[in-house]
Amino acid sequence: MPVLIFIDHTEGHIKKASFEALTYGADVAKQLGTTAEGLLPGTVNDDLASLGKYGIAKVHQVSNASLDHVDAQVDAKAIEEALKIIRADVLVFSHNQTGKAVAPIVAARLKAGIVTGAVALPDTSNGFVVKKSVFSGKAFANVNITSPVKIISLNPNSYKIVEGEGTAEINQLNITPAEGKIKVTATNKVSGEVPLTEAEIVVSGGRGLKGPENWGIVEDLAHVLHAATACSRPVADSHWRPHHEHVGQTGIQIAPNLYIALGISGAIQHLAGVNRSKTIVVINKDPEAPFFKAADYGIVGDVFDVVPKLTEEIKKLHAS
Ligand SMILES: Cc1cc2nc3c(=O)[nH]c(=O)nc-3n(C[C@H](O)[C@H](O)[C@H](O)COP(=O)(O)OP(=O)(O)OC[C@H]3O[C@@H](n4cnc5c(N)ncnc54)[C@H](O)[C@@H]3O)c2cc1C
Repeated sequence: MPVLIFIDHTEGHIKKASFEALTYGADVAKQLGTTAEGLLPGTVNDDLASLGKYGIAKVHQVSNASLDHVDAQVDAKAIEEALKIIRADVLVFSHNQTGKAVAPIVAARLKAGIVTGAVALPDTSNGFVVKKSVFSGKAFANVNITSPVKIISLNPNSYKIVEGEGTAEINQLNITPAEGKIKVTATNKVSGEVPLTEAEIVVSGGRGLKGPENWGIVEDLAHVLHAATACSRPVADSHWRPHHEHVGQTGIQIAPNLYIALGISGAIQHLAGVNRSKTIVVINKDPEAPFFKAADYGIVGDVFDVVPKLTEEIKKLHAS
């Protein structure tokens, strides 16, 4: 039976998190001596056959406009129906916002064991043991899934995307999606920014910025780095920045390649949302700020002095 990977998309394009899930699912399949296949609910503008380069043999598509937008209940029902035709026993999702909503419903409907927030390939030498991050990334747990159907949702940015050769076969599944109980009447899109959860680089500001009128230096640095912007919770609570930028235990949890913290103290609740970042750079005028303990690189200095200089140096690098 194949390993089946859920392909998540938005506005007609497949999300980067899905490429990670596809690469991961293909490696799980290799490990189990089987093939990997993708399942795409809805339609996208991307070339589906080219998804073969991530190691999958087939893409099953349910071409129905009602699946173009995420409705977790409808998606879960469609997956359940699809599995009556495809009969996979290992399902892989990204542990992004869609996966967090859809995968547990699928698990409940199929009475399947699920490991959410996986960070490594399963160990199949004695059972089906999946390593996941727990306690806001402070520890790992190894969980054995013993049910016949096994579901894994993969933490974004925890598995390297590998592109090889290959073309996937496209198979249209004849499934009529269930009627949704919710209707999207309007979408307010944040435009002109790199989406926080997909960003490779994030520049984040805290109370050390003193007020919203000073955010230009955060945005300028983010702009030259083609980065997304984020903030600490009090900044969002004070309406200096919108709530969708708030990262941490009670905000968005991210794992970019580079996280640059400007004037943020590094409270444990903030770290809980960013400590899976590959490299952390902290700029803070207080050498005792706790964030320095979690940082790979630190600059003790005033953000109003250091950040514009940093931005100028990066501009010069781009120009040379
Ligand atoms: C249940 C709970 C959940 C929470 N969830 C979250 C969460 O999800 N995310 C989150 O962020 N917080 C969360 N918090 C709040 C958290 O505990 C901290 O209060 C918060 O992260 C502090 O934000 P800050 O670092 O921006 O501000 P501060 O703690 O005020 O720190 C400001 C920092 O800026 C530095 N600074 C000041 N001026 C300058 C300057 N000119 N140049 C350089 N550095 C300067 C200071 O030295 C200081 O380190 C939560 C708290 C609780 C109780």
